[in-house]
Amino acid sequence: MTQVSIESVRGNIANQPDIDAIVNAANARLMPGSGVAGAIHSAAGPGLAQECRRLAPIEPGQAVISGGHDLPNSHVIHCLGPVYGVDTPSDELLADCYRNALELADRHGLSSIAFPAISTGVFGYPIDEAARVAVNAIRKAVPGLTSVRLIRLVLFSEDDLRVFRAALASASPGT
Ligand code: ADP
Repeated sequence: MTQVSIESVRGNIANQPDIDAIVNAANARLMPGSGVAGAIHSAAGPGLAQECRRLAPIEPGQAVISGGHDLPNSHVIHCLGPVYGVDTPSDELLADCYRNALELADRHGLSSIAFPAISTGVFGYPIDEAARVAVNAIRKAVPGLTSVRLIRLVLFSEDDLRVFRAALASASPGT
């Protein structure tokens, strides 16, 4: 069984210098926006939006990979989360984001990846449900990983961190 660490921290997804790939909670056109996408694009510089033009559009649940440009990370993995209750089934589409992002990172031989709480901002996903879906999807994907060794969940607020920590604590161990 591979040894994969799953950790949760409070922080800014655009400031994770020790991580190979950070995950963007993207919009379908992969353009700079508010929240996570805004923070990532402003730290990455205009080259990221330029590269993203040929990768867009993407569908809810999908993940695509780009370079990191001016970020300290070699790659950005862009996921389009579901708009809660609009893109359905929202739980399956959110789980797809985590699974597809992990598989992409693994296929590219990356050893670490950091996720924000996809869909929990303007897309309206309740944080406690999102945390449960995220943790379950990650735990399910872990046994298939051969390259990824560190999965970091980066939460913007202390409250969100508490919710994700509780989900991590209650999910079945065994990894
Ligand atoms: P979505 O459109 O998928 O809902 P958002 O970017 O609006 O994505 O928000 C997703 C989550 O990320 C929210 O919980 C928000 O508070 C959080 N967030 C916003 N900016 C950052 C950041 N710089 N780093 C980490 N998390 C962030």
